[in-house]
Amino acid sequence: MKNFDLQAYLKDLETVVNIDTGHYFEVGTNEVAEFFKKKYDELGFRTEIKYYQNNHATPFVTVTNTDCDHYDVLLVGHMDTVFAPGSAKERPFRIDEQGHGRGPGCIDCKGGCVLIYYLLKLMKEAGELNFTFCVAMNSDEELKSTYSRDYFEELAEKSDRCFLFEPGRANREFVSQRKGGNNYLIKCHGIAAHSGVCPEKGASAVLELSRWVDELYKRYFLLDEGTTINIGRFDGGADNGSVPDYAEFTISLRCMTNERLAEINKDILDIPNHPYDSRVTIESILLANRPCMTPDEKTFEIIHLMENVGRDLNAPIEMLCTGGGSDGNFIALHDCPTVDGCGPCGSLLHTVDEYLIIDSIEQRLDIMRETLLRIFAK
Ligand SMILES: [Zn+2]
Repeated sequence: MKNFDLQAYLKDLETVVNIDTGHYFEVGTNEVAEFFKKKYDELGFRTEIKYYQNNHATPFVTVTNTDCDHYDVLLVGHMDTVFAPGSAKERPFRIDEQGHGRGPGCIDCKGGCVLIYYLLKLMKEAGELNFTFCVAMNSDEELKSTYSRDYFEELAEKSDRCFLFEPGRANREFVSQRKGGNNYLIKCHGIAAHSGVCPEKGASAVLELSRWVDELYKRYFLLDEGTTINIGRFDGGADNGSVPDYAEFTISLRCMTNERLAEINKDILDIPNHPYDSRVTIESILLANRPCMTPDEKTFEIIHLMENVGRDLNAPIEMLCTGGGSDGNFIALHDCPTVDGCGPCGSLLHTVDEYLIIDSIEQRLDIMRETLLRIFAK
């Protein structure tokens, strides 16, 4: 992209990577939010930092070029990371021998946030901003957007399309589809008894839930249809001489369609009505829900246009379906066609080995600029 200054981009990336923004780390999240606000202020856009339910650890930054309540395009990134305070000091931003950017959150998703800024800055300077936009950056994405979900759903209602700047894949793929997912907690109350003297009087919560673990995998671990469950934690039990009267486990369920998600949700919430041992009591609690991000016809139009852009720029565009969620899941739900993975490319997110491929930055910028130009070509 003409006039793109990679060194300036890297300097800004370094600044934000070197500020910790792990879970609910108020000082860092606000520092990064202020950093972006100031940069966008300097470009003359309207900026705001909001705090949902007064939670000052999860600032939500919006930037727009209109006072209308409607946006041609919504551009999304998140400022938070999964890394604890101190991580940035331990392994500050650097570029390694292979030309990979390193440092906490460099690819997920700070590189994407900085990319949005340069995209809009350069398009503004070139007089190419002939559309209305809203940039939205949250700081609780890694916490399943507990505080920002409502903001995103509201913005999705007001927006015609959305690009999310979560990382592009190492092989340069974008993301057009994300599975939906629910999390559950299943609790079981059994009856305690002496396991030697009167085991028949006991009702084992461990046995009951073990049977359910097996049953749930049989029913819902169906790789062919893209449905999977994971029982990540199983707790409970008692002293070895006692029949255990309590156990619990958590379920993470992923599905390709909202219909399938709803169907299985009904079944899982119905577990308490069908215990193997009628003497136990089971509770089934839905902890969190993320709908599917499913491309519709309008999304395919955008994808098609992007594929043409890729061909013309000699950067072939591939789309990918992933089981991992993002804020795109909430946004696409509101009939807002959404393409994700528009950020720079990289891999190994959520680990200390995460990396950002430096030479993907300008290519991503070019693709996104050209995509916007063609969408809004008069
Ligand atoms: Zn992310």
